Amino acid sequence: MRLPALLLLAASGLLAQRPYIAIAGFQHESNSFHSVPTPLAEFNRRVIPPGADLIATWADNNDEIAGYIEEGRKHGFDFYPTVARMAMPAGPVTREAFETITKEIVDKLKAAPRKLDGVLLALHGAMVSQDYLHADAEIVRRVREAMGPQMPIIVTHDFHANISPEIVQYSTVLLNYKEVPHIDQKERGRKAAEIMSRIVKDGVKPVQVLVKPAMIYNLRFQHTFAEPLKPIVDETKKLEKDPEILAASVAGGYQWGDVPAVGASVVIAVNGNRDRAEREAKRLSNMLWDTRDRLKLNLPTPATAVKMAMEETKTLPVTLVEMGDNIGGGSAGDSTFMLAELLKQKATGWVSVIYDPAEVERAVKLGIGGAFDAMVGGKTDKVHGAPVRVRGTVKVLHDGVFMDTAIRHGGQKYYDQGLSAVIEVEGSTRDLPNYVLLTSKRMVPFSLHQLYSVGIVPERQKILVVKAAVAFRAAYEPLNGRIIEVDTGGSTAVNPAQFNFKNAPKDLFGIK
Ligand SMILES: [Zn+2]
Repeated sequence: MRLPALLLLAASGLLAQRPYIAIAGFQHESNSFHSVPTPLAEFNRRVIPPGADLIATWADNNDEIAGYIEEGRKHGFDFYPTVARMAMPAGPVTREAFETITKEIVDKLKAAPRKLDGVLLALHGAMVSQDYLHADAEIVRRVREAMGPQMPIIVTHDFHANISPEIVQYSTVLLNYKEVPHIDQKERGRKAAEIMSRIVKDGVKPVQVLVKPAMIYNLRFQHTFAEPLKPIVDETKKLEKDPEILAASVAGGYQWGDVPAVGASVVIAVNGNRDRAEREAKRLSNMLWDTRDRLKLNLPTPATAVKMAMEETKTLPVTLVEMGDNIGGGSAGDSTFMLAELLKQKATGWVSVIYDPAEVERAVKLGIGGAFDAMVGGKTDKVHGAPVRVRGTVKVLHDGVFMDTAIRHGGQKYYDQGLSAVIEVEGSTRDLPNYVLLTSKRMVPFSLHQLYSVGIVPERQKILVVKAAVAFRAAYEPLNGRIIEVDTGGSTAVNPAQFNFKNAPKDLFGIK
């Protein structure tokens, strides 16, 4: 009833009050296979000191909330800022964190000083909490319950959202970023505010439809500036040029969420025309589905990769990439899959770096030249491989501080991998020694000086193992050797078959 009344006022030029729009944000990408939950204290990103001007601080950014504000100002919105909190990706959100922050948002919305006309809500879309497999949907459900069925609630999501029918039902319009890397966050925030304006000022009536192709769209292929995703994302951009289409979104999904809604999604929001929304959503979903023969992972197993590296004689050294223990992506740094395989196949001339402070202590006690025999790595949790028996001699002890003056990923110059020990491992030859470098701190392999500093010359080794995904390349590609990405286990494994899914649909393409 309220919308036509507003329209009437607007038409007669008597609109006394500007649209009053609330803003809230609560974002987390939750890895179901990450053993460490995310507590309340971690939700400190975007938190503004008490007394600061929330809108001015939020506006000074390049994210979707800044986009809400920039566009909303053009449409004459008055903003009601509530809460915006986010945390770095890690394990599921604790009950305390979820309940506290959701309550903050709902309580503030209910306490608005005057009647709200709409809510702009920034969520990630892949949040899992201890109680809710789709925590984002529960947030919107509670906001809807508090605000009533007529309140326009526009939700923005990350491209890596796992979208469920429930969240599409509770929200008025849901849209996500179109781009990976995410460089269009602000633009999508602006879009959300523009849609809000069309709803509250022009009386637009959104209907939205979700269609999910039965697939996990592997992260390895979630690059929207390249085939096969680019033409599909381009199609959503084309659709949004049509005034009937309010928002057209394709979400790649987040494969480390063991949830019923895991996988790719298409959400189309249209002004009134449900048939059109259904038709376009199905069409885009089919486009995603039709790319599946181009989504074969095809990475070698550790056994195959070690064999390939041992057989390589020309393009050396061979760098084996442990994708499942991508330290820069927050993993453990102590996975042992490659180390175990190198020992099993009796490879020579290799280097493996393992985070293991306890065994560094042991090496220090033994002293240089001491006989080392201990179980190494695999101690952080159960998903990064079992500890592996390493026998050899303590070759080098080092304080772990090193420097790289060249510009590498992250632009860092000084590094500290903590007290460190090099073990020369059994099976070494004079020309091709085997080295385990044990560190006391997790260290990203962004600099070869990690090795030079402890007396290891990577150019002279045959096989180097890095725990990484992409960023190591700035340091390792100049070696002009061969790089082999390996399908290893761990909390950042790219192969869903590495995980034991309990809540995801069993028959999704790409899950096995
Ligand atoms: Zn993302």
